[in-house]
Amino acid sequence: MTNKIAVLGLGIMGSGMARQLLAAGFDVAVWNRSREKAEALGDAGARVAATPADAAIDADIVVAMLADDSVSRAIWTGEDGALPAMKPGAVAVESSTLTGDWVFELAREAAAQGVRFIEAPVTGSRDQAAQGQLRFLVGGEADALAAARPALEAMGGAIVHLGPVGSAATVKLANNFLCGVQAASLAEAIALFEKHGLDVEQAMSILFDGAPASPMVKGVGRRMLDRDYAPHFLVPLMAKDLGYAAQALADVGIQSAIAQAARQRFVDADAAGEGHRDIAAIVESLRKA
Ligand code: NAP
Repeated sequence: MTNKIAVLGLGIMGSGMARQLLAAGFDVAVWNRSREKAEALGDAGARVAATPADAAIDADIVVAMLADDSVSRAIWTGEDGALPAMKPGAVAVESSTLTGDWVFELAREAAAQGVRFIEAPVTGSRDQAAQGQLRFLVGGEADALAAARPALEAMGGAIVHLGPVGSAATVKLANNFLCGVQAASLAEAIALFEKHGLDVEQAMSILFDGAPASPMVKGVGRRMLDRDYAPHFLVPLMAKDLGYAAQALADVGIQSAIAQAARQRFVDADAAGEGHRDIAAIVESLRKA
């Protein structure tokens, strides 16, 4: 019976996920670099751990939701890292958006410590995390997924087992490649409409009601028009994902000018001081161009 779950990383996504686990009745331990976010979960009933190792020590499942490869590496395997503290047979669940290379290495490290491992990056954003409606893309062994499933079900509306470790990273990076390209081209289109002095709401209604109308275009486009930059997904994290996607493509011989160009929009926005804002804020530097 899976009772004890540790959540490492309580940012926009991890805090919503930890709250869903608490709401489902799990015994939850939390750790976050900035302690105030962990204490907010402590007020909701979680045990606030002093280190990743302290969070992981008696957990059946340890879920990480961290910024990038280097942070994931440090939190699982660095000083006071979670992996060496875990019980044999417990399951490490890496839900951050990461490279296939790193999740593969992490899976090997977990196996060497007698810990089961799945990668489980997610689609959905802040609101889906807060509502327990994420979609988990899973790579790894079926028995490890079976052990983690009750926890994933508390946080998500769907679980898709894509294959061995690395499969989910590949699909997740492709997912965000397409999202990032759409957001970048959307920002350029909105700036174009504004610079032409068009009725931007009317012009955008053509995109919102036409063939380009993906959930991404509609959601991020609305936020760009409303200048609503409260973060759902932060600018530097999309730059990271597009960089990882470009690398994944390059690894199979595809030099993606598209991924690189889209990434540059997010890098530029970050350099212009938009790094703490939602990805919709990339439109601002184009408005000022
Ligand atoms: P976030 O709010 O920026 O949270 C990032 C987390 O990483 C925080 O817990 C942060 O700690 C931690 N962190 C960053 N640098 C660190 C360091 N040097 N040492 C230790 N901890 C560090 O981002 P998020 O939106 O929750 O995203 C988390 C992961 O989910 C990312 O991999 C992202 O790509 C992915 N993701 C995000 C979304 C989305 O829509 N937001 C959707 C799907 C997947 P602090 O609180 O101390 O900064």
